[in-house]
Amino acid sequence: MLCQLNISNRFKSKNFDNRKKRVSFIIFHYTETKDLEEAVKLLTDKKRKVSSHYVIDYDGSIYNLVDIEKRAWHAGESCWKNLTDINSRSIGIEIVNPGEKKKVKYKIKQIDSVIKLTKLLKKKFKISNSRILGHSDIAPFRKVDPGIYFPWKRLNEKDIGLWVEDKLDKSKLTEKDYILFLNNLKKFGYPYITDYLRSKNKAIIENFHRHHLPQMVGKELTKSSLFKSIDLLKIKNS
Ligand SMILES: [Zn+2]
Repeated sequence: MLCQLNISNRFKSKNFDNRKKRVSFIIFHYTETKDLEEAVKLLTDKKRKVSSHYVIDYDGSIYNLVDIEKRAWHAGESCWKNLTDINSRSIGIEIVNPGEKKKVKYKIKQIDSVIKLTKLLKKKFKISNSRILGHSDIAPFRKVDPGIYFPWKRLNEKDIGLWVEDKLDKSKLTEKDYILFLNNLKKFGYPYITDYLRSKNKAIIENFHRHHLPQMVGKELTKSSLFKSIDLLKIKNS
């Protein structure tokens, strides 16, 4: 299984149980640790009850912590479309990185390994590009990983995940545009979008930007975001 890749079994985590669903997602995370050692300590700590299937070190080394047939505990409370229990439905890949706030870019070797590993998993479980996501997509109120430095565009060049080119337009959204934009995000899969309390949508929109328009994180919504949502829906449905 995945024998084409050099994967280490040096560390194992007991933080898993049985899957209740078929695997159909791949979820990327960053470890928010300074190094591999600290990451492995967290992901194997019985008291913390977190884990992931894989962790990828700065030098590109891949470690398997949990059997891919089992349900690792990486996603927590999360949702995509109307699907919950993403842990049961996914493979979790952690990448060693201290976190977005520390402004440390991912290493080229790490991303090369992410690409190789994801390609194999995608093939093995027949996972569609629209279900290769970040933790921030499926848990937008709690998480921001894998953050603005995660190279989604580069991954898409290798046929991993969905990506469309930017159409930049600084004009603000009208009320009608805003409703259309929210509906597009909902159709695309973003969970928890509400018409009743609009301030709640902010974190979701911010995480949509994190993945698809990282230069817009922290900024006011413009038509660039609306155009992105329209083009993403087109390729998702094509
Ligand atoms: Zn995460």
